[in-house]
Amino acid sequence: MNIIIGKSSGFCSGVQRAIKGATTALKEHKKIYCFGEIIHNPVVVKTLKDMGMIVVNDITKVPDKSWFVIRSHGLQNEIYKKAVEKKLEIFDFTCPKVKKIHRLVTELTEKGRFILIIGNPSHPEVKAILSLARGNAQVIENAEDLKKLTFSEQYTVVVQTTFNPEIFLEIADEIILFTKETNIYNTLCEETIKRQKESLQLADEVDFIVVVGGKNSSNTKTLYNTVKKKVPSVHIEDINELNMKLFKNVNNVGIISGASAPKNEVKKVYEYLRGYPG
Ligand code: SF4
Repeated sequence: MNIIIGKSSGFCSGVQRAIKGATTALKEHKKIYCFGEIIHNPVVVKTLKDMGMIVVNDITKVPDKSWFVIRSHGLQNEIYKKAVEKKLEIFDFTCPKVKKIHRLVTELTEKGRFILIIGNPSHPEVKAILSLARGNAQVIENAEDLKKLTFSEQYTVVVQTTFNPEIFLEIADEIILFTKETNIYNTLCEETIKRQKESLQLADEVDFIVVVGGKNSSNTKTLYNTVKKKVPSVHIEDINELNMKLFKNVNNVGIISGASAPKNEVKKVYEYLRGYPG
């Protein structure tokens, strides 16, 4: 079996920065709190928990003056304020690309613009962006959601960094049709788009694709949904999920990963498939 690993596999720059920073901080401070799992990858989360990271979903559970990590998705404004009140020592690993959206939304909100955020409403990145608009925003996940809006003279649009580009364009097209003035800020992450483009090219070269990454990772799900339209594919978190029956009659296989899967997880899949007599 011929195996090709996608060029952009492994962590994206934002995740790399957060994991490296959290690992260094844990070595120094031993016990660090994080609001939500630092990335959508159970293997990496377990490693950090073993080092002393404590994941909380309620900021009141964090003792005052503790060490505290903000993950690459960013943090909701009201939770951030509580963290400051509790005098937590904050390591802010919000991805610079996400920070850019925060600055944009803060600035536009101050100018009184109503903001449409295209994204998954339950995703932490979207929740954090929404919290900065002081109630003057709405999240849109698909073109259907637009029916809930009333015609407006003016809309301003931003998009979750890892949202599906095709659905973003579909929604943006619809918005343009029912507003007089629309300002659309393309805040998609260019690293994610590059990864998707490369994965689609790889899908043309192989008979099967293995997508490695957390099942709850937005960018990994988008990647999987994109490539599976072109070639049979499977989405796994680790090699134990690989069903070798899927590889019957497969001569060329591609391995790609979401932004929250480390390179060594991709390598493990590569080694496993390479050792398979097929
Ligand atoms: S996917 Fe892009 S925006 Fe999200 S953390 Fe990675 S580099 Fe940052």
